[in-house]
Amino acid sequence: MRIENRQRLVVGNWKLNGNLAENAALLGACANAEVRVARTLGVCSPYPYLSQLQSVLANTPVQYGSQDVSRFPKGAYTGEVSAGMVAEFGCQLAIVGHSERRALFGDSDEVVGEKFLRAQQVGLTPVLCVGETLSEREAGMTEVVVARQVGAVIKIAGVAALAGAVVAYEPVWAIGTGKTASPVQAQEVHAFLRTYVAKHAVEISSKLPILYGGSVKKANAAELFGQPDIDGGLIGGASLVADEFLGIWQAL
Ligand code: PEP
Repeated sequence: MRIENRQRLVVGNWKLNGNLAENAALLGACANAEVRVARTLGVCSPYPYLSQLQSVLANTPVQYGSQDVSRFPKGAYTGEVSAGMVAEFGCQLAIVGHSERRALFGDSDEVVGEKFLRAQQVGLTPVLCVGETLSEREAGMTEVVVARQVGAVIKIAGVAALAGAVVAYEPVWAIGTGKTASPVQAQEVHAFLRTYVAKHAVEISSKLPILYGGSVKKANAAELFGQPDIDGGLIGGASLVADEFLGIWQAL
């Protein structure tokens, strides 16, 4: 059964996409979207555009933020961007542990835990991504993998930290591939994640928003979001097209 007081949200992850002109059109459409209480819309852009997000979205209900943060707060770490710097732009959100960061840039479970902590320390809501690869799913390891990924964050930040966080289940085989997990497949893992967190803290688990990510489109969003433990979506490709993105949000 769905818990109605859980936050429901759709968050866009632009990845390495965007330019000032295209962003302006997309953000304008988001800013003008009809306000819906208890259905949050969020946008996570590359760092250089945070100031543009702030100027368009700051006085709207749309939340915004970054796709990553450094595990370090400051210092001699060339190329890094700290959570504190992100927060200075009025951001609310920071994605951590996206599978592309884990696979392409070496973010281990421990590094993701440190990034989660850094984001939360400055008042950002971490959107913690977890998910298995195709070979892990085929080997029957899905639950082991997502439990390990969430468990690492609990070990580093403490289970209480999940009270102010969002988890996104993103099966790696469904990201950017056009292959969506079926609503039943997704629900199974979402329910597992909720039960796993409940073993540490029942109250936190029942209020924890768990988003699904992986080739969500306007056409499949409503069925996914209708599952009892799916509280919204983390949207990659489709978040770059205003009509698709807002259509997904309206399916919440
Ligand atoms: C993502 O990158 O978080 C994602 C879910 O991508 P896509 O929607 O393109 O599969």
